[in-house]
Amino acid sequence: MSRSCNAAGQSMCADVLETTSLAARHPLEFTIQYPPRREYFQNAFRGELDIESILKAPELLLYLHIPFCASKCHYCNFAVDVRANAELHKNYARLLVEQIKRLDGLLPENTRVPGIDIGGGTPTILQAGQLTEILLALKSWGRRAGAPHFLSVETTPSIAASHPERLQALVEGGVERVSMGVQSTTQAVLADMNRKQQLHTVDKAAENIRKAGFRRFNADVIFGLPRQTKHDWAETVRHVISTGVDSVTTYDCLYRGKGRRLSEQTSGTPSPDTYGALYDLSYDMLTHAGFHAQYGSVNFSRIAGETGTSAYFEERLFKHTPYLGVGNYASSMVGNNWWFAPYAVNSWMTRIEAGEVLPLGDVYTLPALELMAKQILLSLNFGSIDTVRFERRFGIAFDAIYNEAMMFAVGQNWLRKTQNGYAVADGHFKDMHLIRSLFYTRQAVEWLKKVEQTHTHA
Ligand code: SF4
Repeated sequence: MSRSCNAAGQSMCADVLETTSLAARHPLEFTIQYPPRREYFQNAFRGELDIESILKAPELLLYLHIPFCASKCHYCNFAVDVRANAELHKNYARLLVEQIKRLDGLLPENTRVPGIDIGGGTPTILQAGQLTEILLALKSWGRRAGAPHFLSVETTPSIAASHPERLQALVEGGVERVSMGVQSTTQAVLADMNRKQQLHTVDKAAENIRKAGFRRFNADVIFGLPRQTKHDWAETVRHVISTGVDSVTTYDCLYRGKGRRLSEQTSGTPSPDTYGALYDLSYDMLTHAGFHAQYGSVNFSRIAGETGTSAYFEERLFKHTPYLGVGNYASSMVGNNWWFAPYAVNSWMTRIEAGEVLPLGDVYTLPALELMAKQILLSLNFGSIDTVRFERRFGIAFDAIYNEAMMFAVGQNWLRKTQNGYAVADGHFKDMHLIRSLFYTRQAVEWLKKVEQTHTHA
């Protein structure tokens, strides 16, 4: 299984050199999202699923997708539906409740569910009554919970500022953590990203969230957006700190992937050095303001012993716990199966209406190396790789597969060795694309090289 090195006698593996030089030419292709493009998996790893057997997993996380948004932000490639149709929203919420109840009835009584995230889309675009219905359907799932703050919901500044009754419905329904997608507080950047409705709403939104009484309050912000200056980014970070949040997630803006308006942008995209400088700036600001994080992590928390992310996300990343997604285009992973619900809202609704429990869209059966790549790239979200957990999950020593690549990364000073594995070396966020590339499978690299050749010859 080890990635072979055909540079025998030389100190560096030819694979590693080839992969990192591809990443140096195309840094924006080597993001946290693996596979590099959906077509790669569609061509190579289509599979089938036995729903009965996956429902027997002893532990499952749950994700609820609510796809509706007022408009689509240009950096977003989630499955988003911008139809402002009250009847559609109502029917979707009703069917989601139906699906949650069916699933609960089919899962064995002792299935542990340590985290539930409700995301989208914009979940709080639903009316307070609809949110209450969904949370009532989840109430009985509490008996399966095993972690504090296990229920987390996303919102936006414009909705949190103007609909305190929806926040109240969340708290009364048992939601302990809310995550607000602030992204930026710069007017020009927000306007460029199709988020004008958010202007001047962040402070009021934060006030409403605090009044509602959530136990944890997170803000998401994005760096590397088009036309975003260092000053803009510093101002955004300063602003979210001033709202009194418990945690901040700093995402690097992605510029590739279907459905993302920014992936059409061919010039003016940030260089790795720009990403590095922006990350380092926010790392210094947040740690000086009392937030803690391993260098390289995008998750900052004020609270000792917490990472700031949801229980769902932590379990997925740290413990590799399987997860089920409900709602259109929600993704699920159990064992070596990774699959999606149907993309279109109407098709998902029709199939739930017809009595299906988990309507399937694309289904993939992934070889071990592909699963490992997905898992490690996700864990780099926390700036580290825990080789002990890796071994527990995959039943093979991390170094048996990645030794060559790790020697190279440590030699380059991109990573440093830690007690439990590896961590991004201080000051090297700018090399994240190179670090990530080391975990791309040989097959994925060959596939990307073909894409590169196609573009060169086009
Ligand atoms: S970023 Fe959030 S608010 Fe914007 S379109 Fe995507 S899901 Fe909707």
